[in-house]
Order: sequence, then C-alpha cells, then structure tokens
Amino acid sequence: MRRVAVVTGGASGIGAACARRLAVEGCAVVIADRDESAAARVAGECGGDAVLLDVADRAGVAGVFEEVLRLYGRLDVAINSAGVGVPERRSIDGLDFETWRRVLSINLDGVFLCMSAEVSAMLDSGGGSIVNIASVMSVVGAAGAAPYVAAKHGIMGLTKAAALEFADRGIRVNAVGPGHVETPMFSKWSPAEQAEITSQYPMGRIARADEVASFVCMIAGDSARFATGAYFPLDGGYTAQ
Ligand code: NAD
Repeated sequence: MRRVAVVTGGASGIGAACARRLAVEGCAVVIADRDESAAARVAGECGGDAVLLDVADRAGVAGVFEEVLRLYGRLDVAINSAGVGVPERRSIDGLDFETWRRVLSINLDGVFLCMSAEVSAMLDSGGGSIVNIASVMSVVGAAGAAPYVAAKHGIMGLTKAAALEFADRGIRVNAVGPGHVETPMFSKWSPAEQAEITSQYPMGRIARADEVASFVCMIAGDSARFATGAYFPLDGGYTAQ
C-alpha cells in the first residue's frame, strides 16, 4: 500500500527536501505550508498536493488533517518541519514578549497542534511515524536566541511524551537535530555571520538540506522501526565538541 506523508513547512528548505525524498521513496506527499505558491511548486515536483497551513492556527490545523484523511483515507508519515528563526539576536533583557510568543507559537505550539492532529489520523490508519525537526539548539543553548532555544528544547519533551503515549499503538515519534543547514533560514544571516557559524563546525561546512532529508526519511521509515522517543543529532560533530 502506498504510504501517505504530510510535511509541514514543506514549501522550503529541509521540509521541501524531505517532501522530494519521500516522493522518490514512493509516498503520496502532502505539502502543508503557509506559503501557498511555494507549496504548490514543491507539490508539482513531487506529484503531490499542496495545502495551506498555518501551524499556529488551532482550528486550521485540525481542518488540514481532516482534509488529508478525506483526500487520501490514511496518514502514515508526518514530518514537522515548519518553523521560524529569531528575527535578530537579542538577549532576554531586551527581548519583547511579542517576539517570544511568536516564535513559541510557531515552533512549539505549532508542533503540538500538528502532532495532536497527526496521532489522531494515524490511530485511524493503524499506526504511523512522526519526525519532528528539532535542532542542535534542542540540546545546547545559543546566546541571543532564547525563544528558539526554548521552543527546540520543548520539542524534545513533546517527542518523548508522545512517543510513550503511543508506543503500544503503532505510532513512533522521534526528533532529528540538524546543525545549521543551507536553507533560506540560514541565508538570512550576513556573510560574516555565516562564516562565523560555519567555522564552528568540525567538518568545516554546514549541512545541505538533502543530507538532512535522507536521514529524516530513514528515521521515518521502516529501517528505524524500533526507534521511538529518541533524539538523533545530524550536526557534523557540532555537539560532540
Ligand atoms: P525555511 O525557512 O527554508 O523553511 C521553513 C518553512 O516553514 C517555510 O516554507 C515556511 O513558509 C514554513 N512556515 C513558517 N512558519 C509557518 C507556519 N506558521 N505555518 C506553516 N508553515 C510555516 O527553513 P528550514 O531551514 O528549512 O527550517 C525547517 C526546520 O528546520 C525549522 O523547524 C527549523 O527550526 C529547523 N532547523 C533549521 C536549521 C537551519 O540552519 N536551517 C537548523 C536546525 C533546525
């Protein structure tokens, strides 16, 4: 039977690379993103569908997963990649509450809302596999990025709790923690900032999105069938230092 996969944030970067990879693996892929035209472009490449999704919109999230079940009749794989970075580096004494809430609402509330809808759809489908795109900042801090770091640490807790809640019902939940990746999220930093970040990587470079995608899809798939509740770093040695 053809696996059905949803990729949130699938219109760009890591999510788009995961969508392409899942399509190559034979999945029916749904690209769920708030950027409708970019989502439609990636869906076109994957032979899949694009749906408009704002992961921070409670009612909207539930509707999107109902639509997926209506269109495809099942959900087997969910990759939660939608996310935003901090608009600029700022320490917590100068951080406005609106920025804090905005990053948390997308990067943590959004993952909770999507996971909640995903497990319901997967229970109806007889099981499934969820991979949350965490970060090295799920396990280490970064000065000036408190909301992002807090959200990514929170994803770890959500991953572990949900994995335990559904381990005996055929749903696996894992997190992959990339280091910095060549995507639009990274390229918003200045060339000097990019060089400074890259210099912190033992391999002398950061990851490409397709390198993250192949790892994420391996964790999502059957070759990782005994893995659940786990965090898998994919960071070129960054957190080994
Ligand atoms: P990206 O900016 O290329 O893609 C993010 C996608 O998420 C975009 O298509 C965007 O439209 C979508 N999105 C943002 N807010 C949304 C919302 N509210 N609802 C629905 N879609 C929304 O970024 P990326 O680098 O591919 O990042 C993907 C994930 O990987 C994020 O969770 C990010 O935190 C994580 N990550 C990125 C890096 C990196 O260096 N690029 C490193 C570690 C982890």
